[in-house]
Amino acid sequence: MCGKTFGVVGHPIKHSLSPRMHNAVFKKLKLDCEYKAFDLEAEELEGKMREFKRNMAGINITIPHKVSIIKYLDALSEDAELIGAVNTVKFGKKTVGYNTDGIGCVKAFEEECVKLKGKRILILGAGGAARAIGFQLAKEKTEMWISDKIVQKSVDLVSEIKRKLNAKVHATTLDEKMLTGLIENMDVLINATPIGMTPNVDETPIDTRMLKKRLVVMDIVYNPVETKLLKDARKKGCKTISGVGMFVNQGAESLRIWLGIEPPVDLMRKTVVEVLKKR
Ligand code: NAP
Repeated sequence: MCGKTFGVVGHPIKHSLSPRMHNAVFKKLKLDCEYKAFDLEAEELEGKMREFKRNMAGINITIPHKVSIIKYLDALSEDAELIGAVNTVKFGKKTVGYNTDGIGCVKAFEEECVKLKGKRILILGAGGAARAIGFQLAKEKTEMWISDKIVQKSVDLVSEIKRKLNAKVHATTLDEKMLTGLIENMDVLINATPIGMTPNVDETPIDTRMLKKRLVVMDIVYNPVETKLLKDARKKGCKTISGVGMFVNQGAESLRIWLGIEPPVDLMRKTVVEVLKKR
C-alpha cells in the first residue's frame, strides 16, 4: 500500500503509454497508487506544479516540457544537471528533477547482453533523446559520432559532451559517402530521430545498403515496435534492439526513484507491446 498519485505531463499526451505501463505495475504489486496523464500547455505548468507539490508523489515529464520544468524544481540529480533536461520529478521536502532516458537506453543494451565500453557508436539525431543518450554513453566510455540534419546541432552537442565529460565524441555530416565509410567501422548504430515513427512506417534514416551484419542496431522509436530500420537490419543479420526497451527501462528507473521498488520490467514490456500491437 502506498496511497500515492503519479502522472505524466506533456502536450499532447493522449497517446502516452506511461499510464497503462505504470498502473499495470501498481496492480501487479498490489500498491494503492495511481498514475494519470496531464495535458498541459507551457503557461499552465507553474500553477499546476504548485498543485502537484501538494497532491502528488512524482511525475514524468515529456515533450515539450523537459527543459522548461527545471525552473520549478529545487534541485537536480547529477544526470539531469549534465543533460540539462528532466523526465522524472520526485516531490518531497524538496522537489527534485532526474533524467532516466539515458540510463533507460543503457539498460536496454544490457538486457540484450551488449557491452558498451570501448564500442564505436553512431547516433543519428542530436535532439532531446540524443542528448540524454549521448551523455550516458559517454559515461560508459564509448566512442561516439553524432549526426543531425542540422550540422550545427551535432557540433554543439558534441562540444558540450566533450567539455563536461572529456569524452571521445565527434560530429559528422549525413553525406551518404561519409556515412557509408563511417558505418563500416561502427559497432553500434542508434536512430534517435523520429524517422520511421507511425504513421511514417515506410521511412528509414539509413539506406539498407549501408547496414552490415556485425552491427548492433537500436531504434529508439517504439511505435511501431519493429521499425523499417530494424526490419532491414534484421534481414541483414544485425542484432536489433527496439525502442520499447529504452522506454520501459526509463519508466522502471522512475519507479525506483519514487518508490524504491524493483519493478517487474517484463510485465511493463508486455503491457507496452500489447497496447502498441492493438493500435
Ligand atoms: P527531437 O528533440 O525533435 O530530436 C530529433 C532530432 O533528429 C532533431 O534534431 C531532428 O532535426 C533530427 N533529425 C530529423 N531527421 C533527421 C535525419 N534524417 N538525420 C539526422 N537527424 C535528423 O526529438 P526527440 O525527443 O529526441 O525524440 C526523437 C524520437 O525518439 C521520437 O520518435 C521519440 O518518440 C523517440 N523517443 C523514444 C524514447 C524511448 O524511450 N524509446 C525516449 C525519447 C524519445 P529537426 O529538428 O531539424 O527535424
